[in-house]
Amino acid sequence: MNILVTGGVGFIGSHTALILLQAGHNVVVLDNLCNSSVETLNRVSQLIGRKPVFVQGDIRDCEMLDRLFLKHSVDAVLHFAGLKAVAESVAQPLRYYDNNVHGSQVLLQACADAGVFNFVFSSSATVYGEPAQMPISEACPVGQPTNPYGRSKLMVEEMLRDVAASDPRWRIAILRYFNPVGAHKSGLMGEDPNGIPNNLLPYIAQVAVGKLQQLAVFGDDYPTADGTGVRDYIHVMDLAEAHLRALEALYTRTGAHVWNLGTGRGYSVLEMVRSFEAASGKPVPYRIAPRRPGDIAACYADPAKAERELGWKAQRGLDEMMRDAWLWQSMNPDGFR
Ligand code: NAD
Ligand code: UDP
Repeated sequence: MNILVTGGVGFIGSHTALILLQAGHNVVVLDNLCNSSVETLNRVSQLIGRKPVFVQGDIRDCEMLDRLFLKHSVDAVLHFAGLKAVAESVAQPLRYYDNNVHGSQVLLQACADAGVFNFVFSSSATVYGEPAQMPISEACPVGQPTNPYGRSKLMVEEMLRDVAASDPRWRIAILRYFNPVGAHKSGLMGEDPNGIPNNLLPYIAQVAVGKLQQLAVFGDDYPTADGTGVRDYIHVMDLAEAHLRALEALYTRTGAHVWNLGTGRGYSVLEMVRSFEAASGKPVPYRIAPRRPGDIAACYADPAKAERELGWKAQRGLDEMMRDAWLWQSMNPDGFR
């Protein structure tokens, strides 16, 4: 297949592009590089001797998209492109709605115009808001996301359901990621956040490598075993493989389908700290800080639907996530720069 991967230079998209190439697909990556470096694609080539075709451009540029679809005979789109920093979305909501919601709308229109109806979307567990039940299954109603980033994901999901209802040719996978972490096992590819990381694992990794002094643990008074927040961390390579399975599942399905992508197992912030210390052999000093506004106590997936329908189950455990994240961080203390 000829697959367009928007945001394919970024963390999850680049690992997925690698998996797609390895599976024999042709990959075109479209990215405006607002949060990534093209060096990532050189690493893909270093690893597997093949590189995606790269187009530098923006998903909001409809004329460029029309040309791209025509030139590359695209069969399916994996749509990763988006802005993802929660705090930034609170400060700049219109930028988030423009990039994530309007951008997805322009992309979907270009797909429809080009007759491309196979579409996989990167959504997030954040659409469940404060979940009514744990673990969270796809049957759990979507809630009220606590920030514009989360709402932008929910709006795109609604758009996809409407689009699927309007034309039976659409085959859409909505993948709700839990907490993606880790890196390719070579240490050549990984997560390279701009500035000070917002997410737990890159922050811990930068403390361990000596770039940051101390982790702030946001709250130790949650109703969890040790009082710190519990999340379902999933290895980025497991996540990447799930995209291939989702694409295959769309061969036999029309309409819009939702799948949770998590391991089903939650770990607390302090468990993550201890596990990273064990994997890296480095201390991770931390202090207890107030809760972060908008955070929930616990969030982990019921991944049974993905196993049943996609034949996919996360294979890599916490030790592997930590080992690979540390290898990436220690080999590339300044990321791709
Ligand atoms: P990332 O920032 O590493 O990758 C996103 C890529 O999209 C970047 O390379 C960026 O340059 C590109 N991009 C952004 N806006 C664009 C635009 N208008 N046109 C073209 N390219 C654009 O992020 P990631 O962690 O790889 O996340 C990928 C997707 O998964 C995002 O949609 C994100 O919201 C979603 N997601 C991520 C997480 C997470 O914790 N990483 C969790 C749930 C969902
Ligand atoms: N967290 C923390 N310190 C940090 C970053 C995160 O204690 O510097 C906690 C956060 O409160 C949550 C967990 O780590 O309980 C995962 O946070 P992250 O931002 O990585 O993902 P989220 O689940 O919020 O999207």
